[in-house]
Amino acid sequence: MLFCADSRVCPESIFDQRSDSIFETRNAGNVVDDDVLGSFEYAVEHLHVPLIVVLGHKGCGAIHAVCEAQDRPLPNHLRELQKHMEGIHKDVMNAHDRHDAHVLDELSAKNAAQQARLLVEQSSVLAAAVKKGDVRLHYAICDMESGVVEFFDVAKDAPRK
Ligand SMILES: [Zn+2]
Repeated sequence: MLFCADSRVCPESIFDQRSDSIFETRNAGNVVDDDVLGSFEYAVEHLHVPLIVVLGHKGCGAIHAVCEAQDRPLPNHLRELQKHMEGIHKDVMNAHDRHDAHVLDELSAKNAAQQARLLVEQSSVLAAAVKKGDVRLHYAICDMESGVVEFFDVAKDAPRK
């Protein structure tokens, strides 16, 4: 599972799982980079995980930072984070006030969807496993206040079980 690094997001608690039951990679904004791809390829090929979830969350600081910056480049390595989220904000921002919390939550969902798609677009290993039905791929949004997690399908050609 790919989660935001936000310390308030605790996957084991959210899903009522033991600490050794979730293979997780984390970074700010739950974005797909080469390290994440390598981790997931390992998890699929060697650990045979049956499910991949990209979990975004409401009130995400990384989403907020990228949203605030708009087209201005963020400093230093934050620019990398921004690049991974490129394009997610434009259509949402055009329709809303950028300071609205609902807009940020909408962006969190959009980002999680985009990152989940990138997993299969950028990794032939993951794409093949999903196509074959060995792995289900979803994205989800967590509301940390209520503890509710909403799950969504990623691609229409992803198998549903
Ligand atoms: Zn976050």
